[in-house]
Amino acid sequence: MRFIIFIWRNRNQIVKKFLRRESHTNYVNLNRYFVERIIRFYKVNKRNFFWRESSITPFQITIIELFLKKTRAENVQKYGYDFIKKYNNNLILFNSVDKEILKLIKPLGLSNQRAITLRKITNYLHENYNDKVPTNFVELKEIPYIGDYTASAIMCFAYNKRYPILDVNSSRIISRFFLIQNKKDIRNDSLLKQKSLELLPRKKIKDYNWGLLDLGAMICKKNPKCQNCFLRRKCRYFILNLNKEKA
Ligand code: SF4
Repeated sequence: MRFIIFIWRNRNQIVKKFLRRESHTNYVNLNRYFVERIIRFYKVNKRNFFWRESSITPFQITIIELFLKKTRAENVQKYGYDFIKKYNNNLILFNSVDKEILKLIKPLGLSNQRAITLRKITNYLHENYNDKVPTNFVELKEIPYIGDYTASAIMCFAYNKRYPILDVNSSRIISRFFLIQNKKDIRNDSLLKQKSLELLPRKKIKDYNWGLLDLGAMICKKNPKCQNCFLRRKCRYFILNLNKEKA
C-alpha cells in the first residue's frame, strides 16, 4: 500500500523521467540508424576510385586530397593515377623537375597553382618530417595549404582515425536528415561540427565517411532523389516535405 501511495505522489516526476529516457533512447537510435545505413549504402553502392584501394600510402592520399579540392572526383580518377604512380613518395617528388610535374597535372586544371602548392608541401615534408606524412592532426595542419578538411581526410583515410569529413555533400545530408539549420560557411558551423563528431562510428570509419560523400554525390544532391534513398523512412527533411505535400 505504501508503495502505491509513493508512486501516486511522485507520478509526475516518474513520467518525466520515463519520457526523458525515452527521448534519449530515440535520439541514440536515430544516430545509430543513420550511421548503419550509410555504412550499408557504401558497401553496396560505393564508387570505385583508385585512392580507396588498401595499397595507397599516406603520401599518395595527401596528394589526392589536394587534387580533389577543386576538381571533380571523376577527373582525379582519370588523370591523378599517373601522377601518384610516378611520384609515389615525397623524396621522388622533392627531386623532380617542375616541368615534368606541370605536364602531368595539366589535365586536372589549375596546373601552375597546383605545382606551387606541391613544391611547398614537398619541401616542407622533406625538411621537417624526413619525407614522411605526419600522423597527427595538429602537425598536419602546419603543412602549407592543409586546413581542417584535408587534415581530417588524411587522418581518416590514411590512418584510419575517427575524424569527420565535413564538406558540402556530407553537411547537406546531416543537416537534412536531422533537420539542423546549417550555416553557409561549414567551417564556422559549430552545431553541424558537433553533430558530425557525435555520429562518428567506432568501426568502419572510412566506409562511413566515403559512404556520406557517395550518398551526397549520387542521391542526396542539391535536388535530392528521396524516392531512391534508403534513409527516407526516418529522414526529417523527407517526412516534413511529405507532410507539406499532404497539407
Ligand atoms: S531522404 Fe532525401 S533528403 Fe533525406 S537523406 Fe535521403 S535524399 Fe537526402
